Amino acid sequence: MQKADWDKLIDNLEKQGILRSPKVALAMRTVPRSKFLPSELQSYSAQDTPLSIGLGQTVSAPHMVSIMNEALQLAVGHKVLEVGAGCGWHAATIAELVTPKDEPRSEWGHVYTTEIIPVLADQAKKNIRNAGYGDRVTIINTDGSQGYPEKAPYDRVVVTAAAPEVPQPLLDQLKIGGLMVIPVGKAELFQNLLRVTKEADGGAKRENLGGVAFVPLTGEFGVKP
Ligand code: SAM
Repeated sequence: MQKADWDKLIDNLEKQGILRSPKVALAMRTVPRSKFLPSELQSYSAQDTPLSIGLGQTVSAPHMVSIMNEALQLAVGHKVLEVGAGCGWHAATIAELVTPKDEPRSEWGHVYTTEIIPVLADQAKKNIRNAGYGDRVTIINTDGSQGYPEKAPYDRVVVTAAAPEVPQPLLDQLKIGGLMVIPVGKAELFQNLLRVTKEADGGAKRENLGGVAFVPLTGEFGVKP
């Protein structure tokens, strides 16, 4: 992939109004998807589609990661939990926003990302290290539908696989006022991308951001076979 192809894609996402804030656009521009993909997929990496990363899983399309990152309202210092690391690319784009290199380390947040498939978790660890995010993103091979209570509470939670409902442990591990972005709905059909705000009484305000199609969330609070 040529750098120019990635820049063109990001320019188009800005023109379409999908990338609205300069800082999210810069984060997306800074982390080309090609850095997280094997050589045989390089020539497709700047196409705005999901791509197979093996074992029936995908890396999301750039427009979808852009929509999710805009909806998350990420800021320097945020502690973020991602469920579904895949190849690690989305986590790296989040790291650009919560742990930017031009901010002092004392101001940094952190990205914790869970991946249930061991082979993918290992590959994501290598990708994250090789791309230079090893000190800002931690990949955990675990069932993220149960969250990652070891580092809770989180400012933000993002789920990159379709859940039948908002998993209660993820809501429990979100700070009051925190945001979660999650696709919810039937696994074999389209789902709704929800933004959930945790309220002071522990309740959750839901906003529907539109129809999406994600691979199913598995594990304890995922889709049952
Ligand atoms: N964010 C990813 C990236 O940048 O490559 C793409 C994620 S892919 C659409 C969804 C991922 O969620 C898959 O890698 C899948 O194995 C993972 N997954 C599904 N259920 C999970 C669970 N319960 N816990 C952790 N990961 C899960």
